[in-house]
Amino acid sequence: MSGCIFCRISRGEIPSRKVYEDDEILAFHDLNPQRPVHFLIIPKRHISTLYDVSADDQELLGRMLTRAAEMARSQGLDDGFRTIVNTGRVGGQEVYHLHIHIMGGADSVGPMVSALK
Ligand code: AMP
Ligand code: ZN
Repeated sequence: MSGCIFCRISRGEIPSRKVYEDDEILAFHDLNPQRPVHFLIIPKRHISTLYDVSADDQELLGRMLTRAAEMARSQGLDDGFRTIVNTGRVGGQEVYHLHIHIMGGADSVGPMVSALK
């Protein structure tokens, strides 16, 4: 996925403010933070959405979640944080490279979802 913006970030072609990196995972601050701390955890390998994961991805997805808390603590989130994965059109996904949002840094992140109008 040469044109995918998050693939380009994981290859270092587009700069990012890194939170964590290993062979398979990258985490970086969101360009347009919705809370005082807002970063994204991505697999380096391109996976478009949660619809596209398979049993082969279990270990990778597990690694992303099992490292989330230590990444959050490294950013000062010691009293909780919100974890969001948007999927597809209805889920409001804008970038079609799987990512986990981690948000916090305020006294409360706020309600889980706003009321439907
Ligand atoms: P989603 O709506 O779940 O697909 O979220 C995509 C997120 O990617 C948004 O919060 C954007 O602000 C963020 N984003 C888009 N481009 C960049 C970039 N170059 N660096 C960091 N975050 C980005
Ligand atoms: Zn990608």
